[in-house]
This record gives sequence, C-alpha cells and structure tokens, in this order.
Amino acid sequence: MIIVLKPNATPKQIENIKKKLIEHGVSVHLSKGRERTIIGAIGEESVVSELPLAAMPGVEKVMPILKPYKLVSREFRKENTIIKVGREKIGGKKLAVIAGPCAVEGRKKLLTVAEEVKKAGAGFIRGGAFKPRTSPYSFQGLGEEGLKYLAEAREKTGLPVVTELMDPRDTEMVVKYADVIQIGARNMQNFRLLKEVGLTRTPVLLKRGLSATIKEFLMSAEYIMSQGNHQVIFCERGIRTFETYTRNTLDLCAVPILKKESHLPVIVDPSHGVGIREFIPQMAMAAIAAGADGLIIEVHSRPEEALSDGEQSLEPKAFARLMKDIKGIARLMGRSS
Ligand code: PEP
Ligand code: MN
Repeated sequence: MIIVLKPNATPKQIENIKKKLIEHGVSVHLSKGRERTIIGAIGEESVVSELPLAAMPGVEKVMPILKPYKLVSREFRKENTIIKVGREKIGGKKLAVIAGPCAVEGRKKLLTVAEEVKKAGAGFIRGGAFKPRTSPYSFQGLGEEGLKYLAEAREKTGLPVVTELMDPRDTEMVVKYADVIQIGARNMQNFRLLKEVGLTRTPVLLKRGLSATIKEFLMSAEYIMSQGNHQVIFCERGIRTFETYTRNTLDLCAVPILKKESHLPVIVDPSHGVGIREFIPQMAMAAIAAGADGLIIEVHSRPEEALSDGEQSLEPKAFARLMKDIKGIARLMGRSS
C-alpha cells in the first residue's frame, strides 16, 4: 500500500502513521520526494487494507500497489533515484562509467589500469576479487588480497570501487573495501545473498541473471530493498538465447522498460553482453541511446594475457577512444559523460 501524505504533513503526524503500521506488523519505508512524502506500507494486504489510514491526519490518499514489486516501482517513487558514491553519482545527468579488469590479477597490474581508466574519464574502478568461474580449476580471484589492491587503487586515483560479493559469509569483509557491491548474474536469485546485502547500507549493483525475465530482475531488487537498503542499481548484461555468435544477447529493451517500471538507475554491461571486443563500442553507444544511466566496461592493459574475459576486454587506448566517442550520443540524450 502507498500512503501519500499531504504536502504540509507534520513530522508528528508522520510518526503517528508509522507507529500505527508498525503496531500491526507492517514494515514502513519512507520516500521523501521533491514535492511529496510517500510511505510504502509493506505487509499482508488484508491487514494493511483494514487499517483506517485514509482518515489519519496528514494523509492525502491511500492506494494499493498492484505490481508484485513495491519499493522498486515507480508508484512508490516518481522521481529517479540518484545514488551518491563518494563524489560520483549513479542515476543523475552525468553517465556513470565503471571500468577496469574482469578480475584483480595483481597489485601493479591493477594500479596501472586504474590510472589508465581514470585518465580516460571513468568514474569508478571495477575488478573482481571473488570470481564466479564456470570451472573450479579456473582462476578464482585473489580474495581479500585483491580487495586490498582495489582499496589502494581508490586511494591513488580517487575512483570508488565496484567489486563482486559471491558468498554471504564474506559480506562484512567486502563491505570494508567496496563502495558498490556487485551481485553477479549467477547470483541474481540467491535470495539469502540478496537479503544479506539488503541489510548493509552499501549501494548494490545487481546484474541480470543469465536467463532471468525483467520481472524476476525487478523482484530481486525488491528483495534487497525490502531489507532496508534502497540503493540498488540494475545492470543489464545480456541474457542467454539461441544465438551463439555473441556470448549473450544484450537485451537493450530492458533499459527503457526498467526505467518505466522502476525509479532505480539502470546501467549496461556491453562487455559481458556481447563478449567480443570489436562490438563493444557500438553496443555501449546503443545502451546510452536506449536511456542507460551508465556503463560497466572491462578494460585490461594486456587483454591477451588476462586471466579471465580477455577476449572481451578493451585495451586502455580503445577505452579512451570510446569515452570520447560517447560524448556526442550522451549530449543528444541530455547527458554529460
Ligand atoms: C563480471 O562482471 O566480471 C561478471 C562475472 O559478470 P556477470 O555476473 O554479469 O557474468
Ligand atoms: Mn568478466
């Protein structure tokens, strides 16, 4: 249920409404917009609908949320959510560009590529310290050592760190180093993990599952928000279809649909979406034209030697060119880059 408050509702009135809901076991989520404050009352529909909320002082109207995703939906919050990460923002006018290697492979290599992506204009550094590999014999990531290198890269470049969390048992450790926690495609429906990151206050980059529908994607974000963490970013990274030319099929339709259904930011990962270096710039530009709030791009100083995803990693020079090339399309879309 959505409780729309009168523009002049007092803090005391808001407190009373919250108290009433909590007394009945209903969870309360406040959304302060520019014009209106909205209370999202999430609980058993039969309990919430029986409460005399419309008659309470400060309430303008009470409306059911018909969609299965509540806190995630545009009904809950009309304005775009802008997530602040250090000095950067995700979901604002400026495109958020996250760049770096698939995996953190070593200190020196990471510090070098971090400087390179920073120079090219990236706003964030990415790199996995815990890697979800198909084979247990492939490089699994450096673990905490890798996280330390990422923290050092942040210190040297000022770029906030985006890194993947795979196991709820590592949450505390990853939160210590990460500015944004990435939940990978393979874990999009790991509900225990989603709840765990929902309990943190670190922004979460939620990647679309390998064969997840848009509705399932939205519901996974709802899992995170239901625990109190409202800082969720969608990441379209391609889905598995019958097509085998590309690694995945980048579903750019998801971008305008997610933007319509939800107030949360949406970014696109053309690296995993396409899987072939040559086609990444085109799809990055198409993502911006589709309305994406940013990009996540794999960059490696020597892709041919990368321990994972080398074939889809851009060399720093190509990344710098891409950063220049997106300026035009960004401007057309009313964005800066
Ligand atoms: C990654 O970002 O390197 C990654 C493993 O992505 P995904 O979970 O989308 O496959
Ligand atoms: Mn990768």
